Amino acid sequence: MQPPRYYRHTKIIVTLGPATESPERIEQLITAGVDILRLNMAHATCEWVEEILARIRGVSHRLGRHVAVMMDIKGPEIRTGDVDGLIDLAVGSLIDFCTEPVPPDGDGVPCVTVNYRGLPGEVELGQIVLVDSGLLRLRVVAKDETHIRCEALTPGKLGSRRHINLPGVHVNLPSLTEKDRADLAAGVAAGIDLVALSFVRQASDVDELRTFLGDLGSTARIVSKIEEQAGVRNMHEIIRASDAIMVARGDLGIEIEYHQLPLVQTELVLACQAEGRPVIIATHLLESMIHSPMPTRAEISDISNAIREQADAVMLSGETTTGEYPLESVEVFKNIIQSIEPTVDDELNARIQLREPKAKMLRSAAVLAQELGQSGIVVFTRSGFLAYVLGALRPRGVPIFAFTDVEQVFRQLLLPWGVEPFLMDFSDDPEQTILDALAYLKRKDWCTAGSWLVVITNVLANDQIVDSMQLRQVD
Ligand code: PEP
Repeated sequence: MQPPRYYRHTKIIVTLGPATESPERIEQLITAGVDILRLNMAHATCEWVEEILARIRGVSHRLGRHVAVMMDIKGPEIRTGDVDGLIDLAVGSLIDFCTEPVPPDGDGVPCVTVNYRGLPGEVELGQIVLVDSGLLRLRVVAKDETHIRCEALTPGKLGSRRHINLPGVHVNLPSLTEKDRADLAAGVAAGIDLVALSFVRQASDVDELRTFLGDLGSTARIVSKIEEQAGVRNMHEIIRASDAIMVARGDLGIEIEYHQLPLVQTELVLACQAEGRPVIIATHLLESMIHSPMPTRAEISDISNAIREQADAVMLSGETTTGEYPLESVEVFKNIIQSIEPTVDDELNARIQLREPKAKMLRSAAVLAQELGQSGIVVFTRSGFLAYVLGALRPRGVPIFAFTDVEQVFRQLLLPWGVEPFLMDFSDDPEQTILDALAYLKRKDWCTAGSWLVVITNVLANDQIVDSMQLRQVD
């Protein structure tokens, strides 16, 4: 029997932007094996969504290789308004943030509007205000009903529409903004597969999005972004309400103490593995490659750590939106994954709570496939559930071949660790469906004649449908 073809468990997500949105670049990304393309709505319009979805599907169709599309909606973000040029702030400089355009009172302190009316009411004197991903650090020194006055603690320049973080403050903005609702409607119409929800604070934020998607007739899966303190505090209820989690380290690294970030990342990964939910590690994995063709040693270690923690996916943002080396960044991900994955312990996930008998059977399937070696698990699924559970069990070295006849489920299964999805019509005869799947895998070189595969299927026994686990040798 030949050794099986190279197989990657950890999935790769790429954010599209000016550096990667052309048909040629999308083709190169899909050919390189990217699993999910992310649309960051903080920088995009509904028109772009429609155009880019049609482009992605067109290229996928031509190549015969599919990717899932994840729309990342902006959520309740506080931003500064427009300023003329840049405001230069030295340590000790003062700046006012106003909830209404206020005429200057003549004391010479620059005043910038913000989009959050509740700001003066929510912050206390002494509160730290971080602007532009924490590049500018300010402290509140005075406030009234319509503005707060801050003193700069670090030097820097303030431009238009910069993001403001208020660590530890409960921002009283709705979880879905008007822009989010419009973006979602455009995304659903264009056929998005996943939605990433920004600044999730509690499980009800996820429920609200699910209801909104349901009203639009969408079954897109929800990825909750954990990026502020309430999200960390409520992680367990959020994980249970969500289909997946993103450790959104860009904002999270500002909202919590930076030295706590690795601890929170690990805590989130372990909590997701216990609940059987996919987890994505995002932001700054290859930040230096925005301008450099090679990663730093620290970035290589950071990515290796995510793979050793057995995150489901790693994500590129600035590296592929505006970076100079987007394809090289994907190659670096692939190379590090290929080096590290085979060295990861092949113990199954012992933390996962398997509640249903059928889910418990999957653990036996995973043990059997690992014991056989050079094997794989074949599963047939319409909802994706069995494939998600199998991925969550982390059977290292065992590909999970998930066959479905539902197109969106097929693309959504590109997210969980280790799952290789295939879209195939199911026959009325379950035996024929199995034979079709095995023949397909052989044709595509996933297995050869003589390979042993573990097949999870239903059989009919005396008019009763029985869940079964079978050992099949490929003809
Ligand atoms: C992040 O903060 O890490 C993140 C992924 O979100 P965004 O890119 O929307 O800031």
